[in-house]
Amino acid sequence: MLKKIADRVYYMPHYSETDRPALGLICGENFSLIVDSGNSPEHAKDFLKLAKQMDIPPIKLVVITHWHWDHIFGIKTMDYLTISHDDTKKKIDYMKTLKWDDASIDKRVETGEEIEFCRDMIKSEMPTRDHLELKAPDVTFKDKIEIDLGGITCVVEHVGGVHAHDSSIIYIPKEKVIFLGDCIYQDFYSGNWSYDKNELGNLLDKIKKYEVNYYVLGHQDPKTHEEMWRFFDELTTIGEIVGNEITLDKALTRFNEVQKNKPNEEQLEYIQNFVNGNQKKFG
Ligand SMILES: [Zn+2]
Repeated sequence: MLKKIADRVYYMPHYSETDRPALGLICGENFSLIVDSGNSPEHAKDFLKLAKQMDIPPIKLVVITHWHWDHIFGIKTMDYLTISHDDTKKKIDYMKTLKWDDASIDKRVETGEEIEFCRDMIKSEMPTRDHLELKAPDVTFKDKIEIDLGGITCVVEHVGGVHAHDSSIIYIPKEKVIFLGDCIYQDFYSGNWSYDKNELGNLLDKIKKYEVNYYVLGHQDPKTHEEMWRFFDELTTIGEIVGNEITLDKALTRFNEVQKNKPNEEQLEYIQNFVNGNQKKFG
């Protein structure tokens, strides 16, 4: 069963063993829409099997949150009209020119084009990839697009951020639910995992303007308004404390001075992320 998060909004939970992100289903009176296509033909099939057991208006559209493999490898299998940001399509058009057998992926890890984490996850989700065929989205948008499913509307807005510059969110005003994809996560494609204080500020401004009860995240369980804003505040505070520091030691000293406390494990990771971001920018 897909999990119900609001009257007409469902999701399939993320599965971290093989990096399957959460997928969404929004049901209007005229048709239904899927959020993200899954990280493999199997993932897409598993989702469709569950969706087809439900008594809902026909699925007609897939909206893609960003170009990363785990959100787009199921597009061909889903086989519906697919919508994404312009840059998401451009990236997928490029990915279609790549080979996805072990040797080819290994080689891209060696040259730094691919990261080890994704290589390992691709291999464990799809031990063989002979059947894998990538498909690019059919329809693209630049800033924002609204989709009327009949009695319920989805707002798809490009928000960017360091995780993937093409990141888009899907907001359902009537249900006060938002699908964030991975947009609030770190940049992990350019060396050490990092956050950038300014980019985070811009991103959170765009997200916080929406009135939301539940936030659906790519690789975590959904969060309530309170849980999500607590996280946003925590991350923002750490970003401000770290400031422009490019050494971890100095950043930690500042944290201890301001918070009168040592960081816990999670806070330590975020401090490191902001320091890494500063090193990329100023180092
Ligand atoms: Zn991602």
